[in-house]
Amino acid sequence: MEKGLIAVDRWTGGSQAYFLTHLHSDHTQGLSSSWSKGPIFCSRLTAKLFPLKFPCFKFSLLRILEIGSWHSITLISPATGSGTSVDVMAVDAHHCPGAVMFLFRGEFGCLLYTGDFRWETTSEREKIGRTMLLNAVNEVAVDILYLDNTYCNPTYAFPPREVAAQQIVNIIASHPDHDIIIGIDSLGKEDLLLHISSVLEIKIWVWPERLQTMHLLGFHDIFTTKTSLTRVRAVPRYSFNIETLEGLNTIRPTIGIMPSGLPWVTKPYEGNDNLGGSFLTSRYNKCRWTGNEESDKSNATVGFVKRFHKYIYTVAYSDHSCFSEIEEFIKLVQPINMKGIVSSSSCYVDPFYYFGRLCGVNQPVKRLHRKYEIKEGDENRHRTKATFGRVSITKSERKRARSMKVKFLGVQASRVKAYRRVQCGAKIVENDCPD
Ligand SMILES: [Zn+2]
Repeated sequence: MEKGLIAVDRWTGGSQAYFLTHLHSDHTQGLSSSWSKGPIFCSRLTAKLFPLKFPCFKFSLLRILEIGSWHSITLISPATGSGTSVDVMAVDAHHCPGAVMFLFRGEFGCLLYTGDFRWETTSEREKIGRTMLLNAVNEVAVDILYLDNTYCNPTYAFPPREVAAQQIVNIIASHPDHDIIIGIDSLGKEDLLLHISSVLEIKIWVWPERLQTMHLLGFHDIFTTKTSLTRVRAVPRYSFNIETLEGLNTIRPTIGIMPSGLPWVTKPYEGNDNLGGSFLTSRYNKCRWTGNEESDKSNATVGFVKRFHKYIYTVAYSDHSCFSEIEEFIKLVQPINMKGIVSSSSCYVDPFYYFGRLCGVNQPVKRLHRKYEIKEGDENRHRTKATFGRVSITKSERKRARSMKVKFLGVQASRVKAYRRVQCGAKIVENDCPD
């Protein structure tokens, strides 16, 4: 995509339109209440939650994208000075409240940016999202998939959230005389807390700012800030550590539960007094989610619940897709190319390493060129365009767009050669799009 048009979860300026996938802090770094660099497009729920994070924000800069609908935005091409149309659709990312993926299409082709996402297929809500995305990507092939590669490694296997949630309920129920603390972020894992509350018929304590969030999300009776009303407390993740648990246990017997897909130390807790306050380690939890319901049920407690410390359990409850879900997602989207959007200071997992075989570079020729084939009688396609006021993209325009794309790259080469460069690590989009 041409530089200077759009930016997703990147707040360094220099673009005309900014897109926010969700409100987790690692996606809002550089964004502040004094933001004035351009309009921000986000889901309706994210816009609703926005004031809690950015109280003095100029809300006239927020643009709401309804999930599942195409929206057309006209921007100015810095290269030509003329108007260029970008279509965008927000798709539910099933990550935290308000989180969406963005599907873009325009002269540059088609890009899908997942943000953080969980791709389960076990709930009705997720089936709806799947159908929505499938309908959208069936219209046009995805040139580049920007993928949440947090768990893009076959060692990351964990169960659906509803299974993990029940495991957490079981832990709480098996400690009837203990206080319970659960580490959570400022947004996300509400469904887990609702499940605990519903099954155990208990209120959940949250800190005051989190209670405001819960009220904005419409949960008024389940959460409380009064410790006397419940033995289950959801606490900020940063305050959840061994020292805290040991301190609490000098007052009352207390168990900590950390819901996360991240790998944890799996050694028995005995003799592990030097583990320190941090839970995150590079050690792999070898237990797998097999997809075999019966066998998984029988191994549930053993496989995805770990007693990390005498006071602490870890449970593989994650709002990110596990490896097999990432694979399923890529098979569904069938992108021509892809790029991971998550890297830590210590590692970056290139999704191409595991899933390059599923991408367009290895697809049959017909698939590669499907996007150029505008069928005369494709009624659905044209109806969709009319409904959302899209400008039809003709076959010749597609070809022109492709040649423009190559020109922007400064690569005077065939399309196939361009793809090979990508596989070797060359960028085919300008660096306005997040790495
Ligand atoms: Zn997130």
